[in-house]
Formats: sequence, C-alpha cells, structure tokens
Amino acid sequence: MSECLFCKIVAKEVPADIVLEAGRALAFRDINPQAPTHVLVVPKAHHDNAAALAAADDGLADDLLKACHAVAVQEGVAETGYRIVLNTGEGAGQTVFHVHAHVLGGRGLTWPPG
Ligand code: AMP
Ligand code: ZN
Repeated sequence: MSECLFCKIVAKEVPADIVLEAGRALAFRDINPQAPTHVLVVPKAHHDNAAALAAADDGLADDLLKACHAVAVQEGVAETGYRIVLNTGEGAGQTVFHVHAHVLGGRGLTWPPG
C-alpha cells in the first residue's frame, strides 16, 4: 500500500501530529480540524474502510474503538461528550481509503450531521 497516505503516516514517511500510539492503532490530529478536538484513529494495518476492517474479524476493530476512547480521555472530552465517525464510501464523504475513525469533541455537536 505504498501509495496510501495513512500507511505513510503509520510508517512515519509523512509527518503527522501523533497524539497516541496504542498497539495496533495510531492517532493523529486531522490536518483540517472541524472541532477543537479532531483526531483521526487508524489501524496500522491497511484496510480500505470499516466494512473491510470488520470482515478481517481479528479484534482490530475492538482495538480501534478502544483507542478512540483513549484519545477522548487524553483530550479531556470523554466527560463532556464526543463523536466517533467512520465515513464509509465516497457517498458518505470518505476521501482517504485507509479506514480511520474521526474523534470529534470540545464543542457542542449537532445531530443529525450533514
Ligand atoms: P474522510 O473524508 O472521512 O476520508 O476523512 C479524511 C480526513 O483526513 C479529512 O478530515 C482530512 O482533513 C484528513 N487528512 C487528509 N490528509 C491528512 C494529513 N496529511 N494529516 C492529517 N489529516 C489529514
Ligand atoms: Zn493504508
């Protein structure tokens, strides 16, 4: 997956503001933040999207979710509330096809999202 941006961030070939490294997951700040806390959490292993990650069925999706919560705690938004978003497919706004969870918090979040 040499052309995958997030694989390159995992490999430290592309710089990123890494906030947490937790076993098989890596968390770094979104380059275009949509909230005071906007962190992307990725599995180090490449999977195109959430469906592929779930199909792998090796506990990696569990690790990703746990890392999201750890980021929320570390960022101080776990108590006030935060949102985890997995855009899956172009129609949902996915632009980077290495599965990543957006962890958003630090401001009031409206529902439903756009
Ligand atoms: P999505 O639209 O769900 O695929 O989200 C992709 C996200 O990756 C967007 O929020 C971008 O701002 C973010 N992004 C793109 N390039 C980088 C980068 N080099 N470092 C950090 N975040 C990035
Ligand atoms: Zn990748």
